[in-house]
Amino acid sequence: MSPEGAPTPPKLSIVAPVYNERESVGPLHRRLVEALDALPNPFEIILVNDGSRDGTTEALDAIAAEDERVVVVHLRRNFGQSAAMQAGFDQATGDVVIAMDADLQNDPADIPLLLAKLDEGYDVVSGWRKDRKDKWLTRVLPSNVANWLISTMTGVHLHDYGCSLKAYRREVLADVTLYGELHRFIPALAYWAGGTVAEVPVTHHARQFGQSKYGLSRIFRVMLDLIAVKFLLSYSTKPIRMFGQWGCLAGVLGLVVLAYLAYVKLIMGLDIGHRPLLLLGILLVFMAGQFITLGLVAELQARTYYEVRDRPVYAARRTVRKGGDAE
Ligand code: UDP
Ligand code: MG
Repeated sequence: MSPEGAPTPPKLSIVAPVYNERESVGPLHRRLVEALDALPNPFEIILVNDGSRDGTTEALDAIAAEDERVVVVHLRRNFGQSAAMQAGFDQATGDVVIAMDADLQNDPADIPLLLAKLDEGYDVVSGWRKDRKDKWLTRVLPSNVANWLISTMTGVHLHDYGCSLKAYRREVLADVTLYGELHRFIPALAYWAGGTVAEVPVTHHARQFGQSKYGLSRIFRVMLDLIAVKFLLSYSTKPIRMFGQWGCLAGVLGLVVLAYLAYVKLIMGLDIGHRPLLLLGILLVFMAGQFITLGLVAELQARTYYEVRDRPVYAARRTVRKGGDAE
């Protein structure tokens, strides 16, 4: 509580991964400070240097040397945007963590919009680049398809998973670990953990300096991560159900095929050695065995995962006990 008795506004941690953005970091710092100084909240700016080799390192050190609210983390090499973001989240001490790009495509002036939405009681607020300033064919179109797919498969409907500008209550980040291109799926992961998710339209600028770090190959990486996330969301505590489903289906089909062939051979007395159906039948039964054993191995893995790491399979919001400690 502040001296006047008004509650202290939550501390903000801004996290931006930076990879070869020499010209952008200075203006980024200035615009961030301008936007944040206008807010009552205390803040810190965490800039994660993801192995830059273009002079960004020196530029960041200079910023950190003159502003004590800036924390710079230099990674040893380029680990990728998600890992760099995670490094920033690990440093964050704020109650609210705001992630954004360092290339000036996201606008710090949008931060109050995200905070206002968060204040309505949401745990994650995602920016939506409604008027996006990227190439349509190679960026906007694949992104629209990806957003539709991710929304459909995760059940969390957002227009713009790819927008880095997002605000999170710090608790919801505690349980996510980011690998690969996973940072874009945080809203889905947070929702799965019982968090509430909203989105607000934000400004988007064309890249002013340097180059985009991504080409079309990102589409495949995002799709593979989506499959992994979907599996985690739906089956990580019960993998046998997913593999078992397919195993049972293959097994039943295979047995029907083989029974039919057995009838042809034994009752009708015809030769079946040359029939492709025989191969299919054997293959299906074989696959059934593979799927089910894979499911059992995955079950063992899941138990190890949850028990060794002592991870609960649920997320409690509060525990209330009369006369005891409530939290
Ligand atoms: N970035 C990073 N490590 C990487 C690639 C990108 O830290 O390996 C940072 C980059 O400096 C920028 C943000 O991630 O701040 C988004 O990258 P970029 O602007 O290239 O992506 P785009 O906007 O083209 O999707
Ligand atoms: Mg960019």
